[in-house]
Amino acid sequence: MNLLDGKIVSQAVKVRLKTYTEERLLQGKKAPHLAAILIGNNGASETYVASKVKSCAEVGFVSTLIRLEESISEQELLFKLNELNEDFDVDGILVQLPLPKHISEQKVIETIHPSKDVDGFHPESVGRMVQGLPAFYPATPYGILLMLEHYNIETKGKHAVVIGRSNIVGRPISIMLNKNEYPGNCTVTVCHSHTHNLKEICLQADIIIAALGRPEFLKGDMVKEGAVIVDVGITRVPDGSKKSGFAIKGDVDFNDVAPKSSYITPVPGGVGPMTIAALMMNTFKACAAKD
Ligand code: NAD
Repeated sequence: MNLLDGKIVSQAVKVRLKTYTEERLLQGKKAPHLAAILIGNNGASETYVASKVKSCAEVGFVSTLIRLEESISEQELLFKLNELNEDFDVDGILVQLPLPKHISEQKVIETIHPSKDVDGFHPESVGRMVQGLPAFYPATPYGILLMLEHYNIETKGKHAVVIGRSNIVGRPISIMLNKNEYPGNCTVTVCHSHTHNLKEICLQADIIIAALGRPEFLKGDMVKEGAVIVDVGITRVPDGSKKSGFAIKGDVDFNDVAPKSSYITPVPGGVGPMTIAALMMNTFKACAAKD
């Protein structure tokens, strides 16, 4: 068993981006600028946005954190997004999800200008990705690709089973893994909550991407010997022994699955840091596209 270590790979990506950014500055060009919008006081969202802002500083990007009240109206938020769309200095915009119930996620996603859509959720970004055109890939699936690439994991002709079909993880990674270039060219099966025989399907997989949000769902008896396991899940489960009162669990029962796998991501320290590294890559690309 080998670890797919998201901390090491994300650090490598960030070192590369820091160098590129320094080169830009030496050439008299601007540093990439990410604007992040955080609404309300959701603990997990606070943590994610703080990591994104910290990562920007690490790679030499400018970041602007915009905190908005939970009670902000949809119209006010869309107005703010349009302001950021028109601000030439801002290269990438992200709105941390989930949103308060009274705000339409779809409207927010569609209001961000596609040239600043560093989360890769805009229908234009998704359409371009599906057609194999240059696009902003959604950060989590993009991070998974960067990790597979870093470890030279063979993907051509492999059977990849994706568990979950959300717009942010399962569906895009299934499309990205069957594109006609490395990392890709997999035969992909997408499983979801209505899939029958999930265990039998998983047992045929060379690569499993678990993205369903059910702690320790994937067990050792569902996995073929030598499979590559990517655990996307992040669930907070109550844990009295932790200062925070909770532990972070992935969708894979690590101790049960790891001995059978050839490569496996830990949680935490696997896909999570890669998501942020991928967001930084997208922000750099958004900036460079304006040169
Ligand atoms: P989601 O709830 O939007 O989608 C879950 C998907 O899993 C659905 O398509 C559903 O059909 C499927 N599913 C649910 N139960 C199932 C079952 N028993 N069998 C088969 N399929 C089942 O979730 P999401 O937003 O895609 O997130 C999935 C997990 O990944 C969550 O734990 C989330 O916190 C985590 N996540 C992590 C990162 C990261 O950076 N590491 C990023 C995004 C999401």
